[in-house]
Amino acid sequence: MELAVRPLVEYVFRGGSLEGGFRSVSTLTEGTKAHQKVQQQYGELDRKEVYLSLEIPCGKFLFVIDGRCDGLLVDGDGRITIEEIKSTAQELEAVDSESFPVHWAQAKCYAYMYAVLHDVSELDIQLTYVQIDTEEQKRFVQTMTREQLEAFVTDVIQRYAPYAEMLHRHRVKRDASIDGLAFPFPAYRQGQRKLAGAVYTSIAEEVKLFAQAPTGIGKTMSTIFPAVKAIGTGLLQRIFYLTAKTITRTAAEEAFARLQAKGLHLHAVTITAKEKICFQEQLSCRKEDCIYADGYYDRVNGAILDMLGHETLIDRGVIEAYARKHRVCPFEFSLDAAYAADAVICDYNYIFDPRVSLKRQLTEQKRHTALLVDEAHNLVDRSREMFSSALGKSAFLALQREFKVANKSLSASAKEVNAYFIRRRKQAEEKRLIEREAPDELLLLLEDFVQQAERELAGGTGGGTSESGSLLLETYFEAVHFVKIGKLYDERYVTYVDISSQEVRVRMFCLDPSHLLRDMGKGYRSHIYFSATLAPIGFYRDMLGAEADDYTLSIPSPFSREQLEVVLLPLSTRYRDRETTVEPLAAYLRTLTEERPGNYLFFFPSYVYMNTVYEHFIAEGPQADTIIQHGEMSEAEREDFLAAFEAGRSGGTLAGFAVMGGIFSEGVDLVGNRLTGVVVVGVGLPQIGLERNIIRDYFDQTGRNGYDYAYVFPGMNKVLQAGGRLIRSEQDTGLLVLVDDRYLQPHYARLLPAEWSNHAVITL
Ligand code: SF4
Repeated sequence: MELAVRPLVEYVFRGGSLEGGFRSVSTLTEGTKAHQKVQQQYGELDRKEVYLSLEIPCGKFLFVIDGRCDGLLVDGDGRITIEEIKSTAQELEAVDSESFPVHWAQAKCYAYMYAVLHDVSELDIQLTYVQIDTEEQKRFVQTMTREQLEAFVTDVIQRYAPYAEMLHRHRVKRDASIDGLAFPFPAYRQGQRKLAGAVYTSIAEEVKLFAQAPTGIGKTMSTIFPAVKAIGTGLLQRIFYLTAKTITRTAAEEAFARLQAKGLHLHAVTITAKEKICFQEQLSCRKEDCIYADGYYDRVNGAILDMLGHETLIDRGVIEAYARKHRVCPFEFSLDAAYAADAVICDYNYIFDPRVSLKRQLTEQKRHTALLVDEAHNLVDRSREMFSSALGKSAFLALQREFKVANKSLSASAKEVNAYFIRRRKQAEEKRLIEREAPDELLLLLEDFVQQAERELAGGTGGGTSESGSLLLETYFEAVHFVKIGKLYDERYVTYVDISSQEVRVRMFCLDPSHLLRDMGKGYRSHIYFSATLAPIGFYRDMLGAEADDYTLSIPSPFSREQLEVVLLPLSTRYRDRETTVEPLAAYLRTLTEERPGNYLFFFPSYVYMNTVYEHFIAEGPQADTIIQHGEMSEAEREDFLAAFEAGRSGGTLAGFAVMGGIFSEGVDLVGNRLTGVVVVGVGLPQIGLERNIIRDYFDQTGRNGYDYAYVFPGMNKVLQAGGRLIRSEQDTGLLVLVDDRYLQPHYARLLPAEWSNHAVITL
C-alpha cells in the first residue's frame, strides 16, 4: 500500500479542536519563503528536498512510504541531521519542543527511512521554526538510534493500520463490484454511448473533454459510469463530480444510487456548504462556542472509520447522522471524509476557488483523479467571481475605532487602509477610476494589516468585543483573499473604484479566468466539461482553458423534429422599444393561452419587463391561472411554483412568468404534459453595465469579438437553457416561441440549435 509520510502522521497525530475558522491562512505562501530562507543557509554537503521511499511490512500489509524531507545536513564528521522546517505566525517564545508532536513524527519518519536506506545507526533530528513576520528562527534537536526510530515508526504504522485495513478491504470489494458492473439501463439512449466512450477515452488519454450533449440523453450517467469503470481498470482512484447547483448534485447522487442498486460498492461523499449543514444557530467555530468544534480532531478518526465501514452513499443526511453520533462538525467531517472517498459530489469551489479548494490533495492523488464538471457553461462567470476580489472602506474604519485602545498597532494599520480609501474616493469623485494595474499601495498596506490581525486573532491582546472579533475575522479573510488575488493580477485584470453614499470599494476584476482555471485544475488526470448548452463550443473552450490536444464533442438532440414546434415572433424587445411592444406581446400571450390550452412558462429578460407584461396579461380578466416569480423566493415558494405545473391540470391553462437566467430557467425538469409551451422573450443579453463593458473592451483588444464574448454568447446561453426546459423525454411534445426580431439576423440565427432552426415566423 502506497502512503505519503505527511498524511500518515497527520492521520495518527491529529488531536484537539477546530481553530475557530482561523488557521493563519497567509502562512501557506509564507511557508515556502521561510523554507527557502533556511535552506539558503545550507553548507556545501547539505541537501534540500530529499526524496525518500521505503517499504515497511506491517501485518499482512507492505507499506511503501515516501516523502520529501526539507533538509539533509552533513557535518564535517559525516554525521547526519534530518531537518524539518515549519513556519508559524505565533511568537516563537510560545513554541516549545513539544508544541507539535506531528512535526517530530514527520521528521522521525524521514530519519528512519534514511537510516535504513543508508545503514546509519544513529542520527540527529532537527525541527526548525521560522516566525513569518520577524524571520526569527528557533531549533530543537533530538538524537535517536535506528532502533528507537524503528520502534517509533512501527507504532505509527500500527496506529494507522486499522484505517489502512478498512480502505484495503473496501478497495478490493469496490474493484470487484466495478468489474461486473453493467450499464444500469436496458439500453444506451441515442448519443449516450458516444458520450460515455468519449469520457473514458479522455480519462485514458489524460486530456480534457468539452462535450455539448443535449437534455434527454442522460448526461449524468454517461459521465459517471465510464469514470467508475476507469476506477475499476486502475486509471483512476477518485472522481469529483462538480456542480453549480444543489439540484444537479441530487442527480449525481441518484446516479450513484442507481449504480449501487446494480451492485456497485463505492464511497460517494456529498459536500454541503458550511452555512447550510452547520448544526449551530450561529456559525461560530471556536471550541468555546461549539461542542462540535471542541475536540473535533480527537474524535474524527473514529467517526470516519465508523461511517466508511458502514456506508457507501454518503449524502447530507448520512454525514449529519454520523456527525451527531460522534459529536464532530458536519462540514469539516464531510471534508475529511471526502479525502478518503472514491467519489466526491460538490460545488465547483472545492476544486477551483483559491479560498476553499481542498488543499490536502497530493500530486500523486490528483494524477489519479478525474473532474466531471456538470453544467460547465456556469463556470465562466463563476470562475470570474472566484478569481476577483473586492474590499470596502467601512470595515477598516470600524476596526480602527474598535481596537483604538485594545490593540494600537492593529488600529493604526486599519487607519492606514481607511486613509487609502479616502484618497481613492476623492480621485474617483473627479473621474471614474478604471486602471490596468494592481492596487499596489493597498496591497502593501494590507500585508501589514493581515499580520496585525493574525496576531490579534492568534491570542494577541484579547481586546475588543465579540462583535469586533467577528468583524476582524471576516475582514482578515477578505484581506487575505484580496492579497492572494493581487498575486494573480496581470494584464487579464482591471482595478476599479466603486463609490456610493455608503461605501468605497476597490475591486480587482478578472476578465479572462481561463489560465487560472487551468492552474487550479493542474495535475488532475482529466477534466470532463459538459453541458446541454456549451455553444459556441469555441467560446467555452477558450474561456475554460482548453489546450490544443483537448477533445470536443457535440451530440445532436435525440428527439424527433415532430416533438417540437418552433415559432418566431419578430417583435423588438430592445430596452428602448419595450414600452411600445409590451401590449402586443401581452395580447399575443393571451391569444396563445386561449387558443392552445396547456401549461406555459414565459421567460423574460428582467423582472421589470416581466411584471409590466404580466400586468397587461391579466388586465382583461383571467383566461388562465397565473403564477409569477419574484426576487427572493424561499425554498417552499420555489417548490410551490413548480408544483403548480401538474400534468393534465383540471383548471385549464397555467401561465408561469419567470426571468431568464433565474432559478426556473435552468436545471428544472417538467416532464411530459407538465409543460406544453415555452415562450422566450428577448435574446438574453446581460444588462449593459460597467463590468460587461470592460469585458467587451478587453476581448476586443485581444483580437476576439468583445461584444459576443461579453453579451451575445452568455445571453444566448440563457435562451438555450430556458428553451431547453420544454422537451425532456421521448414522450414530450411542445411549442417553443422565440420573441425577438434579432433571431432573424444571421448573427443570432447561427447560434440556435439545429432542432430550433426549422421555425415558422409569425406576424401580429
Ligand atoms: S457545527 Fe457549525 S459552528 Fe460548529 S464548527 Fe461546524 S460549522 Fe462551525
